[in-house]
Amino acid sequence: MYAPSKDILTTGAGIEQAQLIDNHGRKITYLRLAITDRCNLRCSYCMPEQGVEPVAHGETLSYEELERLARLFLEMGITKIRVTGGEPFVRRGCMDFLERLKYDLGVKHLVVTTNGVETARHLKRLKALPISGINLSLDTLDRERFRTITRRDRLADVLNTLYGALELGIKVKVNSVVSEETSDAEILQLGQLAEVHRLSLRFIEKMPFSGEKMVEARVDLGLAQRLAKLFPGLVERQADNGSTAKEFMVKGYRGSLGIIEGSSRKFCSTCNRVRITPQGMLKVCLYDNGVLDLKELIRGEISDEGLLERIRECLNKRFADGHQTESANGRAEQPSMASIGG
Ligand code: SAM
Ligand code: SF4
Repeated sequence: MYAPSKDILTTGAGIEQAQLIDNHGRKITYLRLAITDRCNLRCSYCMPEQGVEPVAHGETLSYEELERLARLFLEMGITKIRVTGGEPFVRRGCMDFLERLKYDLGVKHLVVTTNGVETARHLKRLKALPISGINLSLDTLDRERFRTITRRDRLADVLNTLYGALELGIKVKVNSVVSEETSDAEILQLGQLAEVHRLSLRFIEKMPFSGEKMVEARVDLGLAQRLAKLFPGLVERQADNGSTAKEFMVKGYRGSLGIIEGSSRKFCSTCNRVRITPQGMLKVCLYDNGVLDLKELIRGEISDEGLLERIRECLNKRFADGHQTESANGRAEQPSMASIGG
C-alpha cells in the first residue's frame, strides 16, 4: 500500500505544507494522467482524419515514470487520479498500471476516461479494483452519426461496454460532446439513457481542441437553456466540490443530466486539477501549452524534493482562469484533445 512520506505524517501543519495550493488559494487534489496520445477513434472535434503525429514511444512517459509522478503527487495531497488518453486502453499494460495505482500506491479515487471501444473485456478487473467510476464518451446512439463523428463504425462495441459496466454496478458517467450538428432528437435519445439507467449523462460544450487550425470564436450553444426546453421539470442540484459539471435531476429519471461548459470556462474559480500529458508536460490549466517538462527533469535524475519545488513554482504562477491563460499563450493551431486527455 501507499506509504505517505514523513513530512505528511508529522503534524497538521505538516499536512498543510505538503498540500499543493496555487497562488489563488485553490487546493490541488486531482491529477489527470494522459498515458497515450494514440486512439482507435478519430472524433472530428478531437483530431484530424489522419490522426495526430504520434509521440514516439521513447518520448512517452514509461509506466515507471508515471508511477513515480503519481506517488509524488499523492504525497502532495492528491486524492483523485484519472487515467485518460488518447484512448488509455490502446496502450499495452493499461489495466496492470491501474492495478498498481490502486493496490501499490493506494489511490483513493481512481477513475478512467475511455471511449469504450476496447473496454468491455477489462470491466471485471475494473470492478474488482474497485474503480471509483468510468467516464464513457458517447455522443450519439445513432450508428450512422456515430460513424460520421468518430470516423469509425464501433457504436456496438461502445454500447457493449456501457451495458456491461452498468450490469456490474460500476459507476458510469456518459460524456456527450455537443457540436453545432447535434440535433434535439439526438439529445433526447441520449436523455433516455438517464431516464432508464442510474447513470450521469453530461453534455459537453465542444471546445477548441481539434488538432486543426484555429477557427473563429466558438458559437454559444446555450446548453443550459436547450436542456431546460428539452427536459421540462429539470431541477439543478448541488454538484460535487470542484466539479466542472452543473447537474440536474429530472422527475421520474433514475439517472441525472449535466452540462460541462468547458468552452465558456465557468468553473475556473474552483479548479482543483492539474494534468500530465503523454510526453510528460505538466499543465496547470487546460489552456496552457505545458508549463514544466517533467520528463526531462526525471530523466535528468532530479530528486523528489527538487521536483516538488519545481511543481510548486508553477502553481505559484497560475492564471486565474482559462481565458487569461489562453490570451497569454496565443496559438495558431488548436492542440488535439488526445494529447491532453480531456
Ligand atoms: N479517448 C477517451 C475518450 O474519448 O473518452 C479519453 C480521451 S478524450 C480526449 C477525453 C474527453 O475529451 C472525451 O470525453 C472527449 O469527448 C472529450 N473531448 C475531446 N475533444 C473535445 C473537444 N474539442 N471539446 C470538448 N470535449 C472534447
Ligand atoms: Fe479518441 Fe477520445 Fe479523441 Fe475521440 S475524443 S478521438 S475517442 S481521444
